[in-house]
Amino acid sequence: MKIRLATVWLGGCAGCHMSFLDLDEFLIDLADAVELVYSPVVDVKDYPENVDLCLIEGAVCNEDNLEILHKIRARTKVLVSFGDCAVTGNVPAMRNPLGLANVENVLQRAYVENAQNNPSVPKADGIVPQLLANVRPVHEMVSVEYFLPGCPPPAARIKSLVAQLLAGTAPKQEGEQLKFG
Ligand code: SF4
Repeated sequence: MKIRLATVWLGGCAGCHMSFLDLDEFLIDLADAVELVYSPVVDVKDYPENVDLCLIEGAVCNEDNLEILHKIRARTKVLVSFGDCAVTGNVPAMRNPLGLANVENVLQRAYVENAQNNPSVPKADGIVPQLLANVRPVHEMVSVEYFLPGCPPPAARIKSLVAQLLAGTAPKQEGEQLKFG
């Protein structure tokens, strides 16, 4: 039976998914081994039940992210925190040091100061989900089984983790020795 695979895009730039697509010919092996049941690259609206493996790109930035994340956790056997935004908060978490006013400051900057037409913060119409007071990495909101760091994670690293999971072996999560000079 095929592994039920999902990939999710929370608060990230889609670069991690671009790296996933860089798996090149491994995508053909993957197509034989998995059923892609939810992803930005397939047209499925609701996160399904009984997902075996899910890669989550991006940090938890707003109420919508948090709501779907809890649904994902409840419906998924193995969660992978996919990329530095998911693992640490990374780029979206750069607003956190702005303190208590960070949400207002970010909205003001995006929708008023940088607007060329009709500068206003779209709050009441629900177009912009309510931002969380602080951006959080995925594992601070739900438990995750594996971390896949990198901005984005290189395709070879994604392949290594996914191939081991598909083979039913527990992937080793160890650091690499950094070389300087
Ligand atoms: Fe983009 Fe890097 Fe964040 Fe991935 S980790 S979503 S590539 S900023």
